Amino acid sequence: MKIRWHPRVRPERIYQVYQDFARGSLDPTAVDDLGLALLLRCESILRVSQRELECPLCGTVFSLANAADPDQPVGCPGKDCSFRVTLQEYQASWSKRYLNGANALPAFEEFSRAYPKARSVEQKLRAIDTVIHAFHWDMKINLPNRSAANNLIEANHDQALELLDSLSFGPGQTKERWRQTVAAMRRRRRGE
Ligand SMILES: [Zn+2]
Repeated sequence: MKIRWHPRVRPERIYQVYQDFARGSLDPTAVDDLGLALLLRCESILRVSQRELECPLCGTVFSLANAADPDQPVGCPGKDCSFRVTLQEYQASWSKRYLNGANALPAFEEFSRAYPKARSVEQKLRAIDTVIHAFHWDMKINLPNRSAANNLIEANHDQALELLDSLSFGPGQTKERWRQTVAAMRRRRRGE
């Protein structure tokens, strides 16, 4: 039985919702579907950050944070459950899948709190807009390292930024600030 993580969201889905919004023909079901997909993805990211997993056999959530030996299997605490996993297998299950939230975790946590409380389509879209435009922030130098969208959208880093650049929802100044932040991040990544 394999440990499963929720996948990143296809860029077309995000683009479609924003296009519909711009045309004034927003489909509430499409917003709900997108919001749920992002919520489940954030949940996977937060689980990895806590060294937790959902048992693929019985659904019990448990932690491997105390596993000292990477090769020693840890048993699921679910009733009568036979699932066992080693720390090494666990790490292999999420490695290279963009599930490491690192210093963008506050943005994913905030979305997980805010989105379920959003009632109107606009509130939902605002929560979605905020999390996809978030950054991995480097506290030491007070500059962004990369876009959190890379953890959420099935695209490489530049493609994700290009997609976000083409979307508009909130006030223009917010997008302008985001573009300035992206420009600063790009200069930094080029070592300027
Ligand atoms: Zn189990």
